[in-house]
Amino acid sequence: MFRVFNLKKIAIPAAVLLIILLLVTTFMAFMKRDKASWYDEKFARIARKCPQYYMNVSFNPEEKTVNAVMKVKYTNNSNKNLEEVYFYLYPNAFKDENRLPFLEDEIPKVYPNGFDPGYIEVNYVKTPEEGQDLEFHIEDIYMKVIMPQSLKPGRKISLEVSFSVKLPNSLGRFGYGQKTYNVCNWYPILAVYDDDGWNLNPYYAIGDPFYSEIALYDVVIEVPKDLVIASTGTQVEIKEKDGGTREWHIKTGLVRDFAWVASTEFQIHQKEVDGTNIYSYYFDEEGSRKALEAAAEAVRFFNSYFGKYPYDTFSVVAADFYIGGMEYPNLVLIDKTLYGGSFLEYIVVHETAHQWWYGLVGSNQIKEAWLDEGLTEYSTIMYYEHRYGKARGARMYNDFVKNRYRFYELTNPKDFRVLRPLHEFRDWRDYDALVYARGAMVFGELREQAGDKTFQRVMRQYFREYIYENSTTEAFIRLWEKETENFDKAFFNKMLNLPPEGQNIQIPAA
Ligand SMILES: [Zn+2]
Repeated sequence: MFRVFNLKKIAIPAAVLLIILLLVTTFMAFMKRDKASWYDEKFARIARKCPQYYMNVSFNPEEKTVNAVMKVKYTNNSNKNLEEVYFYLYPNAFKDENRLPFLEDEIPKVYPNGFDPGYIEVNYVKTPEEGQDLEFHIEDIYMKVIMPQSLKPGRKISLEVSFSVKLPNSLGRFGYGQKTYNVCNWYPILAVYDDDGWNLNPYYAIGDPFYSEIALYDVVIEVPKDLVIASTGTQVEIKEKDGGTREWHIKTGLVRDFAWVASTEFQIHQKEVDGTNIYSYYFDEEGSRKALEAAAEAVRFFNSYFGKYPYDTFSVVAADFYIGGMEYPNLVLIDKTLYGGSFLEYIVVHETAHQWWYGLVGSNQIKEAWLDEGLTEYSTIMYYEHRYGKARGARMYNDFVKNRYRFYELTNPKDFRVLRPLHEFRDWRDYDALVYARGAMVFGELREQAGDKTFQRVMRQYFREYIYENSTTEAFIRLWEKETENFDKAFFNKMLNLPPEGQNIQIPAA
């Protein structure tokens, strides 16, 4: 199916059409759920104990402000008593001109009109039932909420947080440009508590400095009528309100973040693949057709090779976004200036592959970025092989992956370690060659050595075991050891450029 419609010109019919589409997909999802599968069992098991966010949001595009009341249900899944719970307040990373999470030479691209601050203010935190105000402390991008009493293992607490966000005039993940409002990493999101305690990391300039748990979201966003929203999750209802606004009601499956992008100029292409509606929100019609086609082919291929994408929607969104592409659950941002160029397909497929590696199978992108980026980059190569034949795939692998790394080797870097935390990479060049190129080579070599059949079997198993959870390098290696005979234990150390077994191996615990 291929349909073009302009929400701006035919606003009401387009909204009605969207609702019909959503009803159909909801019904389809319901029919699918009838057949119990391992997906459903896992979904049910995780959904019982994961965080649940409910948000009422209103956006004022004149002021560039977002006001919201958020209720979050949190379960202590650890075996320790928690005296406090931490949230990230990522917008505060954009407050101070002297401490921005960008490298120096990026600043003019991020702020073409000069620096403009972005931030979040928390008005209150309370328990919604008792209405008891809770003590909270904000420091930089972290908020510590003191529990009214010790939160015991297995116990739940509901928190209500009222907050206001100011979007900066900035072309990054969080901000706005000429055409789009990029409302990403914008609300207080729970930090991950694991064996290391609370994972509290700075907002690094390099990589994707995010690590979160899978959660459920139910969000209502009120915006002026002329704005169209692309978002994580399924838009279940769009309601007309008095005063020239609309309410967009959005519900998600199990996802690890909630992002949305709004524009008065979005047009939409749509296509269905294996029960998932794929949307392309665009400004450039021809580029959008290519982006939609690439995303659809990628979803079809990754569905059949790794395991099925279990969501109703996936949106590829053209945005004022200088970085290129960025993944969020069910939504990817693509720099709108790439739509006429030859790099568009590669970037759309890369971000689509992240729906599997980051979105469905999570990992700590601060401690071990190679695990999702390397696999995402290699999945992209596999897409080219699948779509355009073995020769093209081999050429892409050689040019885009192996040569990229070889070229880096020639520059005589001192430290070749792939597995290291973000702050230990000096610059994007370091990060790109090691995390993306060498990272992808780990998977390329695995496939070459084990054969495609074994590679696929183990990767499907990996997907199945870690879907909706967070994986680690250690877990990935263990799985390969378990699933294959005569597995060469030195393989990963060699490929990740780590010291040989027994000599101070540094695999960070998750
Ligand atoms: Zn990536």
